Amino acid sequence: MEQEIREYALEIGFDNVGFTTADPFTQLTEALEERKEGYSWVSNRLLQLANVADPCNVLPSARSVIVLIYDYHKQAFPEKLIGRIGKAYQSRLYPGKKRLFGSRLRLMRDFLGAKGMEVGYRPAMPERQAAVRAGVGSFGCNTFVHEPGRGSYIGIVAMAVSAELEPAAAVSETRCFDDCRRCFEACPTGALYEPYKMNPLQCIAFNTYGPGNFPGAPEDIPIEIREKMGSWIYGCDLCQDACPMNQKRLKQTLVPDAYLEEIAPKMDPKVLLAMDDNYFQETVQQLLYGYIWEKKFLQRNAAIALGNSGDEGVVNLLATTMEDPEEMVRQYSAWAIGRIGGNKSKNVLELKAKNETSEKVKAEIAYALESF
Ligand code: SF4
Ligand code: SF4
Repeated sequence: MEQEIREYALEIGFDNVGFTTADPFTQLTEALEERKEGYSWVSNRLLQLANVADPCNVLPSARSVIVLIYDYHKQAFPEKLIGRIGKAYQSRLYPGKKRLFGSRLRLMRDFLGAKGMEVGYRPAMPERQAAVRAGVGSFGCNTFVHEPGRGSYIGIVAMAVSAELEPAAAVSETRCFDDCRRCFEACPTGALYEPYKMNPLQCIAFNTYGPGNFPGAPEDIPIEIREKMGSWIYGCDLCQDACPMNQKRLKQTLVPDAYLEEIAPKMDPKVLLAMDDNYFQETVQQLLYGYIWEKKFLQRNAAIALGNSGDEGVVNLLATTMEDPEEMVRQYSAWAIGRIGGNKSKNVLELKAKNETSEKVKAEIAYALESF
């Protein structure tokens, strides 16, 4: 049965498969308990990580967990999107019903169902822990799972099934290079604070989609994080790109992806900041549909990226978006203008302060003006 599952998974586009038991992932629940401060919002609200750390809470009849690996570093990533949109997000690894990746998951479920298995799947299942326990790879200090020969550019899916499948031996040795600190040095925010530990609240990737959007997450992106987000508007790859275990993959010559090449110029932060609902629905969501469902969050991120660019040429655009009906867009446009600085920016902020009605935006303008 394991061989049949493997062959089918490879046939429908996955790149590797592992099997493990349905025992609870107790290390995860212990870690969540120990690091409540950084994780309580996600644990208690949106994803209920602690709950799904026991596969039997996903599928009461669970006996095994199947781990499916998708290598998302198969095509070249457009220059324009590097440093702006994380590679996993460019690769659209979401379980959406009408999407290719979602179709693979459905095909797999149907296949397992036809073999007489009950199948349980939730996106929040502890995929990385399952991958390590299934022997697919091992954790790197940057908290990603590194598969031997493939590195960490992998999407992982864990499915609980009712069949007893032969578990694999875990890859026990850490593959990090001795004394390597490259991921820590590459992380601009200090989110990676010790080996195998990352604080999501400090992570750029989380901050591009969590605040104000995920139930229980903070309302705003902290000022000190905004400044370190640089040009990222969705995700962050820095701690993976810095890793020696990924360098071989990064040096490969890959074929450009026609869709990504076509959409790359449409993801310019100036375009995103000024986009209308139709553009968001018809263009942006075709690529970025995983975590953000309202355009104001991407406009916020675009405003931050423009602020961090320091380009005085975008102050006029930001002045326009300070008239946006959405409070969040006005707020972060004000921050971006302050971040750019200069006399023109100061004049715009002083002018906008006169008519602004939102206390939140007024506070952001006042904060921005303090820096002049
Ligand atoms: S994704 Fe970016 S911000 Fe998050 S831990 Fe890695 S380098 Fe740091
Ligand atoms: S950058 Fe170095 S320390 Fe970090 S995950 Fe890679 S090998 Fe490990």
